[in-house]
Amino acid sequence: MEHEIKDVTILGAGPTGLFGLFYCGMRGASAQVVDALSQAGGQLTALYPEKYIFDVAGFPKVLAKDLVRSLESQAAQFGEPVHLDQHVTGLEEHDGHFVLVTSTDRFPTRSLVLAAGIGAFSPRRLPQAVAEPWYGKGIQDRVLDLEQFRGKRVIIIGGGDSAFDWAQQLRGTAEAISLVHRSDRFRAHAATVADVLASVHTSHTKVFTFHELHDIHSAGEYFDSVTLRNVKSKELERVECDVILPMLGFVSDLGALNDWGLELVNDEIVVNSQMETGHAGIYAAGDICTYPGKLKLIATGFAEAATAVNQAVHWVHPDKKVAPGHSSNMAVFGQKDD
Ligand SMILES: Cc1cc2nc3c(=O)[nH]c(=O)nc-3n(C[C@H](O)[C@H](O)[C@H](O)COP(=O)(O)OP(=O)(O)OC[C@H]3O[C@@H](n4cnc5c(N)ncnc54)[C@H](O)[C@@H]3O)c2cc1C
Repeated sequence: MEHEIKDVTILGAGPTGLFGLFYCGMRGASAQVVDALSQAGGQLTALYPEKYIFDVAGFPKVLAKDLVRSLESQAAQFGEPVHLDQHVTGLEEHDGHFVLVTSTDRFPTRSLVLAAGIGAFSPRRLPQAVAEPWYGKGIQDRVLDLEQFRGKRVIIIGGGDSAFDWAQQLRGTAEAISLVHRSDRFRAHAATVADVLASVHTSHTKVFTFHELHDIHSAGEYFDSVTLRNVKSKELERVECDVILPMLGFVSDLGALNDWGLELVNDEIVVNSQMETGHAGIYAAGDICTYPGKLKLIATGFAEAATAVNQAVHWVHPDKKVAPGHSSNMAVFGQKDD
């Protein structure tokens, strides 16, 4: 399907891309966002929707999924589309415009803002072959809704932040939590580790260090227990469970972006202070871009999105200034336009 040409197309519907879409509307530019995932929000939706974020300006704390919802509704006021389930694989350049290409669609655009985060990413899967058939039938590598785990016996595999965060947050919802890790060295925030270890005595939480998944036992369509193996003593132990959450990090893949002739350092696109990539009409913002002093934060992504979009709008419409003016004084919001 060939879509209508837009002034700005943003690759990536993470917080950076969603705020960029809003900014395009505010600047009176036609725009669209294209993302491979089936939901907007990037890492916030895919990796930590139920976690609180404390360092977004104006929110003492905000659930990641609620921040995404607000960003979506802020962007939606201009009616420009977010195209989901569209994994971008190609970029074509035609007479004065680009076309982003996915396996099914083509998105013509006069300029591009790459807000592709860490690339198209997917959770690292359990290495045990025995686990593979149970993905989607009790093994899940994303937590989208805590309530789904109410009364469930949950095994969390991993020793990093996500493993400990979920062990902490599922307490009180899950009937029992077993955290399983191959060593006794954890890569999670010390306070969270201390909290989870302390809870072993007061809640239905168990921590199995030096253990790994060995086998999964089914009672029909779903499993009801697993066997854990002590990697030192080789002893086996059976543990009842309904859900396995592998929290083993994720693998990301820049994929197509590698081949677009942009300057990359450690899989990040080098930009200048205008968020220009060096290829006229192509800008980058958010986790995907790098420059001296770069911080990979939602807050910096927002600022970079504003810079990138203002530059892109000026590139497409040279009569429009780079500086946007103040939203508090704009006709587009029903205010007096200065
Ligand atoms: C567990 C965790 C906790 C965090 N906590 C905080 C915090 O408290 N505060 C904070 O400021 N930051 C936090 N961060 C970091 C923050 O989430 C990132 O800085 C932020 O998500 C970057 O936003 P982004 O829009 O640039 O990229 P992303 O959120 O990564 O979004 C990029 C989007 O681009 C899409 N994409 C990539 N390649 C393609 C392609 N080829 N085709 C189509 N779509 C593509 C992806 O599907 C994705 O949706 C945390 C990160 C993690 C993992």
